[in-house]
Amino acid sequence: MNAFPLLPGAVNDRGQPVTLGVMGGGQLGRMFVQAAQAMGYVTVVLDPDPASPAGLVAHHHVCTAYDDPQGLAELAGRCDAITTEFENVPAQALRALAQQRPVAPSADCVAVAQDRLQEKAHFVQCAPISGVHPAPHAAIDNPAQLAAVPEALLPGILKTARLGYDGKGQVRVRTREELAAAWAQLGRVSCVLEKMLPLRSECSVLVARGADGQVVTFPVQKNTHHDGILAITEVREGAVPAELAARAQASTVAIAHHLGYVGVLCVEYFVVDDGRGGLDLVVNEMAPRPHNSGHYSQNACDLSQFEAQVRALAGLPLAAPRQHSPTIMINLLGDLWFNPNGVRAQAAAQPVSPPWAEVLALPGTHLHLYGKLSARRGRKMGHLNITGETFGQVHDTAARALALLGLPPLE
Ligand code: ATP
Ligand code: MG
Repeated sequence: MNAFPLLPGAVNDRGQPVTLGVMGGGQLGRMFVQAAQAMGYVTVVLDPDPASPAGLVAHHHVCTAYDDPQGLAELAGRCDAITTEFENVPAQALRALAQQRPVAPSADCVAVAQDRLQEKAHFVQCAPISGVHPAPHAAIDNPAQLAAVPEALLPGILKTARLGYDGKGQVRVRTREELAAAWAQLGRVSCVLEKMLPLRSECSVLVARGADGQVVTFPVQKNTHHDGILAITEVREGAVPAELAARAQASTVAIAHHLGYVGVLCVEYFVVDDGRGGLDLVVNEMAPRPHNSGHYSQNACDLSQFEAQVRALAGLPLAAPRQHSPTIMINLLGDLWFNPNGVRAQAAAQPVSPPWAEVLALPGTHLHLYGKLSARRGRKMGHLNITGETFGQVHDTAARALALLGLPPLE
C-alpha cells in the first residue's frame, strides 16, 4: 500500500500513476473527477450506467453494479484510494474495498447517513457537545409503534428511513388516519415520523476532515427548496444570523469528529423560532460527500468542496477555504429544457436548450452542466454560479438570469 499523502502525479508501488477512485458516476462524482484530474491524478469511476456523468469524463469507467465482486476488485486494483459520491452505495461494497485500499468516508460513516434513524440517533448523541438537536421524532417499524406515536408529533412528515432523496419517500400527515395510510403507501418499511416544524429558513454547512483529525469549515449556506428539491443557495455575510451560523459550523465539526469522519461532510439545518422571540437551529440530515448546496464553492471560494474531497482522500493538507465573492447558486433542472425562455404556456414537446448565450452575457455567471444525455423534469442537469463584487450585484445578476430562464424570482 502506498504511503500517505498520495502525491499528485507520483508513481505508485505498482508502477502506475497515483489513481483515485469514486463509487458512483453522478454529477458529484464527475466534479470530484474533474477536480482530481486538475491536480494531476488519474481517476476511475464505478457506475452501472454506461453514460454516467462521471464515467464519461474519468480516465477509466468500471461499468458494473455497485456490489459486483469483479467490478469492485477491478476498482480496488486500479486505485490507490477510493471515495463515494452518493450515500446509497451498499456499505458492504465499501467494506470490501476497504480490505484492499483506503476508503474515505468509511463504510461505517456512510451506513449512519444511509439510515435516518441511525443518523438521528447520532445527532442526539452529539447534541450535548453540538448544542443542536434533531426535530422531535419517532421510529415506525411496526404497527405497535404506529399506534404508540405521540399526538405531539402531528402534524408531521413521515419519511422512509432509507433511500429517500430530493423529498422522495416522504408524506406529510395531519392525523393518525393519514399517518396509517401514509405508512401503507410507503410499503410499511422502516420509517421515521418527524414533527412538522414551522421553518423560518434552511441552511447547511460543509466541513472537510482529514485522517489526522484536521477539520476545515466552509461558510454557512442558505438554501431555498422548491417542491422538496434545492433551488437556490445563497452564501454571503449575514444571510444566516452570525450567532446561528457559528453554532451550525461548530455543530457540524462536532458531528464529524464524533463519527471519526474522513472526507467532505455536509449537514443540513432548519432555522426555527425559539418560542422566546429569537431563532434556534434544528439539525435535519447529513450527506457523507460533497453536496448540491456547496457547488458555489467552485467559483466563490479559493478551495472548492471537490478539491477538499480530493485533498482529504489523498491525505493532503486541508487549507481553510476563503470565500472571495458573495454568491448565489441556481439549480438547473430538466424542466428548463421543456420551457425555453420560461414560456410555460408553450411547453416544448422535445427538449430545447435554454438560452445560455443570454445568461452567459451577464457578468459573473459560471455555467456547470453535468453532461446528462437527456433532460427530464425534476432531473438535476447543472447549476449556475453567480459571483460579483457586492451582494447587490450578485442579486441583480441572479434576478436577471432567473427571468431569462423563466424561473421564479428570488424570495
Ligand atoms: P435531500 O436529499 O434533497 O436533502 P431529502 O429527501 O433527504 O432531501 P429532507 O432533507 O429530510 O429530505 O427534507 C426535504 C425538505 O422537506 C427539507 O429541506 C425541508 O424543506 C422539508 N422538511 C423536511 N423535514 C421537515 C420538518 N420536520 N419540518 C418542516 N419541513 C421539513
Ligand atoms: Mg435534505
